[in-house]
Amino acid sequence: MSTFTIAEAKALVDPTIDPTSTPGFKASKENIERQVAEIEPELRELQEKLYANFRSGNNPGNILIVLQGMDTSGKGGVVKHTLDPLDPQGVHITGFGKPTKEELSHDFLWRIRKALPGPGKVGIFDRSHYEDVIVHRVHELSSPEEIERRYDAINEFEKELVDGGTTIIKVFLHISKEFQKENLTERLEDPTKYWKYNPGDVDERGHWDAYQEAYRIAFEKTSTDVAPWYIVPSDNKPYARMVVKFLLLDALRSKNLEWPAADFDVEVEKARVAAS
Ligand code: AMP
Ligand code: MG
Repeated sequence: MSTFTIAEAKALVDPTIDPTSTPGFKASKENIERQVAEIEPELRELQEKLYANFRSGNNPGNILIVLQGMDTSGKGGVVKHTLDPLDPQGVHITGFGKPTKEELSHDFLWRIRKALPGPGKVGIFDRSHYEDVIVHRVHELSSPEEIERRYDAINEFEKELVDGGTTIIKVFLHISKEFQKENLTERLEDPTKYWKYNPGDVDERGHWDAYQEAYRIAFEKTSTDVAPWYIVPSDNKPYARMVVKFLLLDALRSKNLEWPAADFDVEVEKARVAAS
């Protein structure tokens, strides 16, 4: 029997890691299902405690999962599966596409700040402020000086968030070029997946190496003690989803949450309810 641990999830920081590998785990379908089933009750309870503490006027902070990855890397699936066991009231999902005209008239972090999860929430970004140094580098949408400025701005921004009580989990869903081809092919063979296919993805695929290089540089510049990057091999989608759940579990556990105490006299209230 294979058992995965949080330490193994947290060790996934090497950008040269093989995207087809499943470090720390014998990733059969059964093993993954068993492992996920084992941690989901705790995930659910800890998220409820986080939200309950906020609702009770405590200050439990929040969690922000930042998802990046090439097209078809499984970001949408990770969002769906990570949030699946959680109470939808306590989650906040934001997807970032090409900026609107209004967004472009502000600093790149403007739309990001607006989308931050509130206190007590688990937020997920499907793409993020990292697009502003990744796609911008690959397609020269900004000058090299501006991109350099942005790495620093990102580090400062994330430190500010962490100081304010946010735990940031940055995940790169690392797929191989071959796997992307399989995924794109699959989308074209299945009419229920046409909606996920975007002809532009093939053009971006043509810049594969430039994207990998842009990611490598971004990891180097923005993997900090307060907000490290996790490079999750993602050719095995169920494995990648499992790893993200472990990272979330670790973040929730680190908050050492208790159930909020009653702000009323429980015995008095019991008597009142009984008599009512
Ligand atoms: P999707 O995630 O498939 O809906 O695609 C969103 C597209 O928006 C991707 O091609 C991203 O590279 C692009 N995108 C997201 N954020 C930005 C940004 N800040 N600047 C330019 N393009 C972006
Ligand atoms: Mg897409």
